[in-house]
Amino acid sequence: MQEIIDRLATRIDHNFDCFRMGLMHDAVAGKVFLVGAGPGDPGLITVRGRECLAQAGVVVYDALTHPGLLGHAPQAEHIFVGKKADRHSLPQEEINALLVHKARAGNTVARLKGGDPFVFGRGGEEALALAGAGVPFEVVPGVTSGIAAPAFAGIPVSHRGLSTSVTFVTGHLAPGASTQVDLRRTVHEGTLVFYMSVKQLPALTASLIAMGRDARTPAAVIEWATYARQRVVTGMIMDIAAAAKAAAIEAPAIVVVGEVAGLREQLAWFEARPLHGLRVVLTHTARRADRLEGRLRELGADVLSFPTLEIVPAPENGFVWETGRWDWLVLTSTNAAEMIFETLDAAGLDARALGDTRICAVGAATADAVARRYLRVDAHPEGFGPEAAVAAMAACGSLEDGRALIPRADIARRALAASLRDAGMQVEEVQAYETRPVSGLEARLEKLDAYAPDLIVFTNSAAARNFAQA
Ligand code: SAH
Repeated sequence: MQEIIDRLATRIDHNFDCFRMGLMHDAVAGKVFLVGAGPGDPGLITVRGRECLAQAGVVVYDALTHPGLLGHAPQAEHIFVGKKADRHSLPQEEINALLVHKARAGNTVARLKGGDPFVFGRGGEEALALAGAGVPFEVVPGVTSGIAAPAFAGIPVSHRGLSTSVTFVTGHLAPGASTQVDLRRTVHEGTLVFYMSVKQLPALTASLIAMGRDARTPAAVIEWATYARQRVVTGMIMDIAAAAKAAAIEAPAIVVVGEVAGLREQLAWFEARPLHGLRVVLTHTARRADRLEGRLRELGADVLSFPTLEIVPAPENGFVWETGRWDWLVLTSTNAAEMIFETLDAAGLDARALGDTRICAVGAATADAVARRYLRVDAHPEGFGPEAAVAAMAACGSLEDGRALIPRADIARRALAASLRDAGMQVEEVQAYETRPVSGLEARLEKLDAYAPDLIVFTNSAAARNFAQA
């Protein structure tokens, strides 16, 4: 018996030591996540990839990663190592060295790579460099463009009865490599997916035909897949190169050859969405932009979040909640709701202090913020105008001589207060928060320019003003 207990105790000690060492190691040493960013659309990164970005101290990214993804890592240093118009990308050795250096300095590094890090992305080389340097790393697979691009073009890469294999081929050979890609084994059947092969397309299709693939096999070229600017050219092996040339297709593009490419005719879903192709910039605060951004994306728009405003709590507004003082609490934003609950909390109170005060919440997000505190909204006006709010409140009983409290922003319109006064109420307002211009806007304008938006959305005058000033 004693022997068993001793053995167990030793074992537990050992496990505990490992656990402690593990934690200590984690605390001092950095780590690299090789994260697949997906093919373009920022919604196509994995949940794990997003988590890695959120915890990163440094993000090292390429040209083919959507700029919006950096928004998942606002806390991190962002280092661009891709190709720019005016210069080459950082040589691979330097990228490897950078990753090792940043990790050794104790950082959690997210190495964000387009598509999947291990599919023609030189992620294997980076992993080897990290392994060689003894830097811990994890690989977070991504959706590779070779699958996403056909999917977004309405092409299933395998299909019962049409194709039983998929082959990924790079058209780009390492410098000095003399051998041609050996297509003989795959050429007669199945789906062929070519990466980096726009320039080689005439030669590629000619050799496919020379090797005996039916020249009438359907083919498609998908440029900038999953982005709003996605373009698809279809044809057959014999004419796809000419069609791509006529359409001035350029990299990045994926070439799909095989019977499956013919399915696009029936399955093209991406271009059919109502806002397809529209490039939209949202200028309001990051939090507000989220909801609209999701909706726009679903309708097919490409969205760049470009906040020009940030919201900060009103400095020392001197506000004190007095139970029983107000008949109505009128909340026009989530920030107003948060401000009230935070004030209560700071005063050592909780929701019970609201007592009989009724709550009017304007907008779905505001109502949600109230509901999250397990409070019911008495009036939830349809629409945002002051008339709607007054009507919804009046439906609960006469407003005559009632007292209303409106926590509001510095830039809020006064119309609501005026309408409530017209309805016979006594209105008190308190400044709940301030909207401030985001600093460093000028520096980010280059990015906006490169994005070439079709449409810029302003939801208030302050956002428009800050934007115009920058
Ligand atoms: N690791 C990446 C591939 C990097 S190689 C992945 O898994 O997708 C770069 C090539 O990928 C480009 O030349 C192009 O062929 C393809 N590619 C990447 N993004 C693309 C996109 N959005 N649309 C079409 N092709 C794309």
